[in-house]
Amino acid sequence: MDRIEEATQQEIEEIRAILLREYPNSVTELRYKSLYQLLISVILSAQCTDERVNIITPALFKKYPTVVELANANIDDVKELIKSCSYFNNKAKNIVKMAQQVIERFNSQIPLNQKDLMSLPGVGQKTANVVMIEYAGENLMAVDTHVFRVSHRLGLSSAKSPIKTEEELSRKFKTDLHRLHKAMVLFGRYRCKALNPKCDNCFLSHLCKSRDRFKVN
Ligand code: SF4
Repeated sequence: MDRIEEATQQEIEEIRAILLREYPNSVTELRYKSLYQLLISVILSAQCTDERVNIITPALFKKYPTVVELANANIDDVKELIKSCSYFNNKAKNIVKMAQQVIERFNSQIPLNQKDLMSLPGVGQKTANVVMIEYAGENLMAVDTHVFRVSHRLGLSSAKSPIKTEEELSRKFKTDLHRLHKAMVLFGRYRCKALNPKCDNCFLSHLCKSRDRFKVN
């Protein structure tokens, strides 16, 4: 595939303004009522849709309402409740271990900072950042499959990994990273889709570096 042209600083600013205009108050589609529920939902959402996670979590949170119940859970019972989620074996082990460590190391309170979150089982940088973005409105970027695809198509990044893409987007946008993250997730999920992006009805098509690949006029 040909290398995608890089967006200029002026184009980056225009992309920012349009994304923030089009998605002024976007929030995650994951349904949660507490930091505990958000963290578990984000862990489960890796390689799984938010829709699927929202189907799974009500019964999970009913049986294990806090880290205390989850830390003492039978792993097979947890697996049974989350078995329709991808990688449910590992995820079940991780969320139980996560709950145990929150009790042992953080006085039963889920920590609300990137470093401590990342020290918990099943929590990588993307998961920690999504939690911090959603729960604390922190100026952080997180790169999931949608943000990765959108940023590459728009010429915002040519990095090969999500972490490098996160660094590049953070450097180029600098501010409003949390709002831009949420906007790019929704834009990628519903408009700039992996297959058959809706290029003929795209408010960024005049700035897009990939539109010719999808036959936009
Ligand atoms: S023109 Fe198409 S590929 Fe480009 S940003 Fe819009 S939807 Fe995505």
